Amino acid sequence: MGTVVNAANKEGTESALSIKKPKVVFVLGGPGSGKGTQCANIVEHFGYTHLSAGDLLRAEIKSGSENGTMIQNMISEGIIVPAEVTIKLLEKAILGTKNDKFLIDGFPRNEENRAAFESLTGIVPEFVLFFDCSEEEMEKRLLSRNQGRVDDNIETIRKRFKVFVESSLAVIEYYDSKGKVKKIDAGKPVEEVFEAVKAIFTPVEDKA
Ligand code: UDP
Ligand code: MG
Repeated sequence: MGTVVNAANKEGTESALSIKKPKVVFVLGGPGSGKGTQCANIVEHFGYTHLSAGDLLRAEIKSGSENGTMIQNMISEGIIVPAEVTIKLLEKAILGTKNDKFLIDGFPRNEENRAAFESLTGIVPEFVLFFDCSEEEMEKRLLSRNQGRVDDNIETIRKRFKVFVESSLAVIEYYDSKGKVKKIDAGKPVEEVFEAVKAIFTPVEDKA
């Protein structure tokens, strides 16, 4: 509903995404803040499709695409991949899914990501779910999760924290200035955090 504003491609025709008009929620927060875990819960209870930008990039590496090596190097360093690469993967995933409600997890990660996504797709998020968590807690979670990720080592974790503070927080501030940020205290146990998440996704008329 009203989330797509005149996205047009270079030829001036309407883009496939502006015809689909998907409903998008950005799920943001530092590395280890619980985005993926809570997105799985939201999918189960509220019927969204979960798109993790990091997972899409890791799948792109595995597929042996020509961008694979560049993406792999950037992820190993905790650096943000160029916007157009991530946006293409997100677009393909949105268009390849029948659902029209998406949680986009871990994107946009900087102002370049955000501005490019809005101008290329015409999609403006319904709102931004921000998982607020201390670095101390995030570090503990990342070091104990054992998902075999090249970037879950202490050196890269510290770099990712730095990138989050220096680049990603600006995106949250931008949407906050538009009144679109719903902040969650994400330092608590999974079930407690999900109670707060549920309150946000449950329609007002069902809450009584
Ligand atoms: N990444 C990126 N752009 C994105 C999402 C992820 O460049 O839109 C890269 C970036 O190098 C990041 C890594 O993928 O550090 C892992 O991201 P993910 O969201 O999977 O992990 P998180 O930091 O949330 O634990
Ligand atoms: Mg994740």
